[in-house]
Amino acid sequence: EQGSTVSITVVGASGDLAKKKIFPALFALFYEGCLPQHFTIFGYARSKMSDAELRAMISATLTCRIDKRENCSEKINQFLKRCFYQSGQYNSEDNFSELDKKLKDHEGGKVANRMFYLSVPPNVFIDVARCASRSASSSKGWTRVIVEKPFGRDSESSGELTSGLKEFLTEEQIYRIDHYLGKELVENLSILRFSNLVFEPLWSRQYIRNVQLIFSEDFGTEGRGGYFDNYGIIRDIMQNHLLQILALFAMEPPVSLDAEDIRNEKVKVLRSMRKLQLEDVVVGQYKSHIKGGVHYPGYTDDKTVPNNSLTPTFAAAALFVDNARWDGVPFLMKAGKALHNKLAEIRVQFRHVPGNLYKRSFGMDLDQATNELVIRVQPDEAVYLKINNKVPGLGMRLDRSNLNLLYSDRYSREIPDAYERLLLDAIEGERRLFIRSDELDAAWAIFTPLLKELEERKISPELYPYGSRGPVGAHYLAAKYNVRWGDMSSSEHSKS
Ligand code: NAP
Repeated sequence: EQGSTVSITVVGASGDLAKKKIFPALFALFYEGCLPQHFTIFGYARSKMSDAELRAMISATLTCRIDKRENCSEKINQFLKRCFYQSGQYNSEDNFSELDKKLKDHEGGKVANRMFYLSVPPNVFIDVARCASRSASSSKGWTRVIVEKPFGRDSESSGELTSGLKEFLTEEQIYRIDHYLGKELVENLSILRFSNLVFEPLWSRQYIRNVQLIFSEDFGTEGRGGYFDNYGIIRDIMQNHLLQILALFAMEPPVSLDAEDIRNEKVKVLRSMRKLQLEDVVVGQYKSHIKGGVHYPGYTDDKTVPNNSLTPTFAAAALFVDNARWDGVPFLMKAGKALHNKLAEIRVQFRHVPGNLYKRSFGMDLDQATNELVIRVQPDEAVYLKINNKVPGLGMRLDRSNLNLLYSDRYSREIPDAYERLLLDAIEGERRLFIRSDELDAAWAIFTPLLKELEERKISPELYPYGSRGPVGAHYLAAKYNVRWGDMSSSEHSKS
């Protein structure tokens, strides 16, 4: 819009997330031409820094995409000229008034829209919301606030955070970010489902045997366990990222692509879910391991973690959506740190072919070798479908092959980081990929009783060696529902 401007303030600019993700994403939006003609970026934190020091800090992490390397340093310089720094306390309305004054100077009397990105620990979220809304809101344009997880640690604390934020902001101003929703393949889930005839008709208990949502990291907390120990893997990964994917996967077709229509469907599916039961959960914690002469530390060897911590670094769970479409279909989640690989994927295992003509011949158990659709979110983004296929030749032998859409083969462009899409959406007021407060309540309702029970009963996690495939208990849990984890199966021959 002519004559308007956007000012983006990264609160907690001295921190890890700001450096690693937010400034690089803002720069990518700038050189892609997605930011308005006139914009200003402010870093705000307690640390003392000059504009030049902020610019030096940011510039160390900025890069251009491979196909846009021309004039990269010139673009970086243009961007850095629009970045400024203001030091202040998170609970000081006066300090935010000083920020306001500087923002006004840069906005030069234009209609000024303002975005605040809260990249600070959760204990200061509400202070910042208060100070920003009272002392640094835009007087003519919109004011929006992006909030990072964790959104509380159970239903109660999440509810308190929501009502605390809503004292100073309306729901429309709050953008709760779950960066998994900004990932290319998660966004693609709805396109696969709703714009291909061959998927949506199969999307129910009639054809789908189980769905698996898998997240694994090949490193541990590595000295940064302080935050993690208070949350654990169930809160850190399952209750938010994996559950969000589940909701998108399992929701009914929305009336339209409008944010409210999509979020209405997500809330409905979350509210149809059974509360997670202790007998449907396995928790684990990694222990030290020596491999190839290298010593890998256990979770409790991390100096920032108490020696007797029972916090799970791994969990597997079976969840159920009690509605007509999904009655009885297990949704299996698995998430862990310090495992043998780094991966996030969705696996859809289909039922066996009734009366399969090829069932008894050719050396394959076709009840096991059913179709499986895999959506690999990261790394090496891909969508592939496992099918049974005749091995060419005069004989009659079948094998399992993949119909494979590997993104790096099909698309030459680099995939934007999730934060780029989400920041752009927030600037444009597109709320589709942000979590509404009733979604958050519904999500916590599924997990809170279980989390309380784990803590009250002091359930000991099953130990697994650093770099392994995780605790054996996860296999028993899947077996209880007649399921095998797809990422563990020996028939998974083609990763690419
Ligand atoms: P961080 O580095 O620990 O903190 C960001 C900034 O907040 C720090 O530079 C510090 O700035 C200030 N700060 C730190 N501890 C504080 C305290 N106890 N009280 C008041 N201010 C404090 O955090 P981060 O890793 O950047 O993450 C920021 C937010 O994003 C957090 O809510 C985190 O949970 C969430 N998040 C992070 C990641 C990630 O990859 N790092 C991923 C998802 C979500 P000053 O001392 O200069 O004020």
